[in-house]
Amino acid sequence: MSTGELRIEGLRAGIDGKEILRGVDLVVETGRVHAVMGPNGSGKSTLAHVLMGRPGYQVLDGSVTLDGVDLLALPTWQRARAGLFLGMQNPLEVPGVDVCSALVAARPGIPAGEPGGGTAHGFEVTRQRLAEEADRIGFDRRFLDRPLNVDLSGGERKRNETIQLGVLRPRFAVLDEIDSGLDVDALAAVAHRVFEATSEWGLGVLAITHFRRLLDVLQPDVVHVLSKGRVVATGGAELAAAVDQTGYAAYL
Ligand code: ADP
Ligand code: MG
Repeated sequence: MSTGELRIEGLRAGIDGKEILRGVDLVVETGRVHAVMGPNGSGKSTLAHVLMGRPGYQVLDGSVTLDGVDLLALPTWQRARAGLFLGMQNPLEVPGVDVCSALVAARPGIPAGEPGGGTAHGFEVTRQRLAEEADRIGFDRRFLDRPLNVDLSGGERKRNETIQLGVLRPRFAVLDEIDSGLDVDALAAVAHRVFEATSEWGLGVLAITHFRRLLDVLQPDVVHVLSKGRVVATGGAELAAAVDQTGYAAYL
């Protein structure tokens, strides 16, 4: 398991001429979990979108590197190939494309030493891996053959994101409110799966959340509070507990 980092330095970015991220510094190491909390509108989703290269956002300053690779210079699909994964706050429906086909296109080969690795890679291997991942978090296998996210509930979409993460095995995952819409049991299952990934293949996690319940299972090494586009507090799990108790007012 090689070590590495997702390094964000002095990141300023905006949309429609409005600056939203006003100098974000964050370094997520392989195998570690960083949580990002913060009030509505503080820029959490903007950070996720800018990291993944969603069109429409302007990067004004700063840098983002993944194991030294300049992500900001790459189109979104190459950021994914470089090892970055985004679990979206609101996963999109993709009519006409099932999740397995999407993943086969996303990941042209599985390295030797991984489940299914070294063998001829394609639909069958990926479909089998998806089924295993679905079973691990109690996601109904029949959803696997449907068009991606079409007619799925919010919580089902979040579980769909999680099984894609499990099959793709990215170096780093940005999870934007992966807990929203999940019932208590699904939340525990998803959080547990992501936590296991940190030791299974050294996944580094940037978990955006409002809720301590996710973090109770995910066990963040570092917790950040984002406010008005800046990291205003950084600490350990006790910071998440404090936010949960008293809200954000003390950090604004
Ligand atoms: P969070 O995820 O922390 O709730 P967001 O990153 O979604 O916050 O939003 C940060 C700010 O950027 C908010 O004030 C929001 O209204 C604004 N914003 C987000 N998307 C757009 C957009 N497409 N056009 C203009 N402003 C936007
Ligand atoms: Mg958001």
